[in-house]
Amino acid sequence: MTVRPNPVFSGLPISIFQHMTMLAQKHDAINLGQGFPDQDGPESLRAVAAKSLVEGPNQYPPSRGLPELRQAVSAHAARFYGLTYDPETEIVITSGGTEALASAILAMAVPGEEFVLVEPTYDSYRPIVEATGAIIKTVKLSPPGWRLTEQVLREAIGPKTRAVLINTPHNPAGRALSREELEALAKVVLETDAVVICDEVYEHLVFDGLPHIPLATLPGMRERCLRIGSAGKIFSLTGWKVGWVSGPAELASVAFKSHQFITFTTPPALQLGVAHGLTHEMDFPLATTARLQKNRDILAAGIARLGFEVLPCEGSYFLTAGISGLTNEKDFAFCERLIREAGVALIPLSAFFKGGTPDTYVRFAFCKQQSVIEESISRLEKYFLPSS
Ligand code: PMP
Ligand code: GLN
Repeated sequence: MTVRPNPVFSGLPISIFQHMTMLAQKHDAINLGQGFPDQDGPESLRAVAAKSLVEGPNQYPPSRGLPELRQAVSAHAARFYGLTYDPETEIVITSGGTEALASAILAMAVPGEEFVLVEPTYDSYRPIVEATGAIIKTVKLSPPGWRLTEQVLREAIGPKTRAVLINTPHNPAGRALSREELEALAKVVLETDAVVICDEVYEHLVFDGLPHIPLATLPGMRERCLRIGSAGKIFSLTGWKVGWVSGPAELASVAFKSHQFITFTTPPALQLGVAHGLTHEMDFPLATTARLQKNRDILAAGIARLGFEVLPCEGSYFLTAGISGLTNEKDFAFCERLIREAGVALIPLSAFFKGGTPDTYVRFAFCKQQSVIEESISRLEKYFLPSS
């Protein structure tokens, strides 16, 4: 017998985040690789969830999500962006942003039809699109600016495009797309029938007073956009895996159908905790942003002194930097060496590119306590500048 599993998945290595985290644990390295905070978010969310675990409800919630959470997600979009979504028909609660993305992709991707991804690409997007049999077209962003232009968009998006998937603030590039870039995207998309899936899980992590601009707020775009959110990111509770899709009923209803057969629903206690958070704890993400901006600045200054070519970072948990001034090695080998020899784990940026290039950049996660960032810099200093 020869088993023939789906090559999209059987051919994949273990995720880069798991790989580097496991290696970091093995070598007792500080993990600035996988993006997760080292302090849990507000206690009140955890208290609401704990109470609900003990007292119930503990049976299947509605597949669309608990009404309390759908209401809260709707009120959040109205409060921060003036976007109106009907909690009955336009919001679906999912098990994390990852499931929200999968539901939205499955809602839009069709075998043999074009689906546009932006590269560098967060790791979960491509395998799901590939598994559907859709034809992937790629919009490539280049360092150091990682900017979207009308020209690169036009090269990939056209009459055959079913959907485009964008991410802002962007992992790993740290870009928060500007109004000009979003206007260029809207202009190109509005000439087609394409829908845009907008991964906005880092919506509250934009620095230096820059705005987070949902593409859905641009004229004509609300009806074209499926927005992806994640409570894990908003409330520093990444293990909770509570996310959502918001969009016009015509599209959200299809994402709801695919969600029905991926997870069907999401633990009710966690949904109630997140509903509480979106209603009562929105100071938390704002304070987190200020704290992480400071971390970003400390990290950027510290690694620039060592010879890393630090790229601008406007948002997200991540700072990217070039390593050509430090080594002739490729990013992956460099990261593995740093874990073993310097005691700091990073992520090679080539993991976000299909062809594996460029391969001379690394990603630092700075969603950690300031002392951890400082200790990482000091370890790197000892390693790269041993005599100083
Ligand atoms: N999109 C991006 C860009 C991410 O970095 C992540 C990682 N957390 C996700 C989606 C997934 O979010 P969640 O953990 O809620 O599944
Ligand atoms: N989003 C996280 C990151 O980019 C990883 C989440 C995961 O490991 N799936 O680091």
